[in-house]
Amino acid sequence: MSTDTTRPPSLLDLDDHALEQNVAELGSPSYRAGQIRRAVYRRFALDFAEMTDLPQALRTQLSQRLRVGPAAVVGQQTSGDGSTTKLLLRLDDGELIETVLMRYDPFGKRRPRQTVCVSTQAGCAMGCTFCATGAQGFRRQLSAGEILLQVLTIARIAAGEAVADSDSLADESAAAADGSAGPSGLTNVVFMGMGEPLANYEATSAALTRLSDPEAFAMSPRRITVSTVGLVPGMRRLAADHPQVNLAISLHASDEALRNALVPVPSASLAAIVATAREHVRRTGRRVSLEYVLLAGINDAPSQASDLARLLRGLNGHVNLIPINPSPGVVGARPSRSAVLQFQAALETGGISTTVRVEKGRDIAAACGQLRGDRAPAAKAGS
Ligand code: SF4
Repeated sequence: MSTDTTRPPSLLDLDDHALEQNVAELGSPSYRAGQIRRAVYRRFALDFAEMTDLPQALRTQLSQRLRVGPAAVVGQQTSGDGSTTKLLLRLDDGELIETVLMRYDPFGKRRPRQTVCVSTQAGCAMGCTFCATGAQGFRRQLSAGEILLQVLTIARIAAGEAVADSDSLADESAAAADGSAGPSGLTNVVFMGMGEPLANYEATSAALTRLSDPEAFAMSPRRITVSTVGLVPGMRRLAADHPQVNLAISLHASDEALRNALVPVPSASLAAIVATAREHVRRTGRRVSLEYVLLAGINDAPSQASDLARLLRGLNGHVNLIPINPSPGVVGARPSRSAVLQFQAALETGGISTTVRVEKGRDIAAACGQLRGDRAPAAKAGS
């Protein structure tokens, strides 16, 4: 693993005050900080050299004390149907993480969506038995800047053009005018990549703030989803700090014993998680998503669906069923289509609304449970 400890700090890890302080220390007027923010968040500049509306001397001075990125893209794959692009990114210390761009309905009748799925940790400590990320173990936390850098890197791809001079770029707020997308054209961000976001709460929270900041990515928080395996203290903090952000809770089982076997997180009982989900709905007024990976012969029986429906009765929630995407070294086989439909029917009979998740990127190992952050043939995750 290569390690570079000599690089200057990332601008993406600075708050506005710290950026303004850096600009002031270089003897430049405060409006330069606004120009830098616009270059980064509107034009997706990853290098000060691209900020051609700044004086050359200032660009040089800035690059001596700060950097924006880039993350080294050491792998890029696009699925056969063109809907999904997965990036393998190498961070400064050599850690590898994966970030995924998913395109929905690009030519369909509905409004097109472009969703970026970000990682919040290198590896993961939660150890879900069906997950390729969990199988590699925990390596380290990502900073808020490293989370945002993933969005920025994907935004450049989504924009479909290299950063040029400032005059060539579109009206910086036009894309956000209808509230459906930030200036990047990305419509949604999901924290469902490698790692458990609420086990890295401070960085996740700082990234959420920057994503919805009108002076930064300007995304609607209602189009951002944080997925958790069910860390109760983090769920409560999220409801208090970011009530508009969507919460997705991974359940994967309808009884405590099976849950403990599949998701060995000792501090979180199924009963406590569902109680906290009810509390979340009361506090935020927003529906929660419940994620349920279907594993053949393990948790896909109609009777288990009926148990799940009883567990969730009265909760304003929606269950997403995710037939497992098998990866080498992890537990679980994919259920048949008829088994999936029977499970769904039993849930709906129990009064629970469900969706079978649209598959994206299975052929490039970018689907739920397959991210691994290496160059092995199989690789994502998702809490
Ligand atoms: S499913 Fe999510 S929480 Fe579980 S091991 Fe994988 S990345 Fe971690």
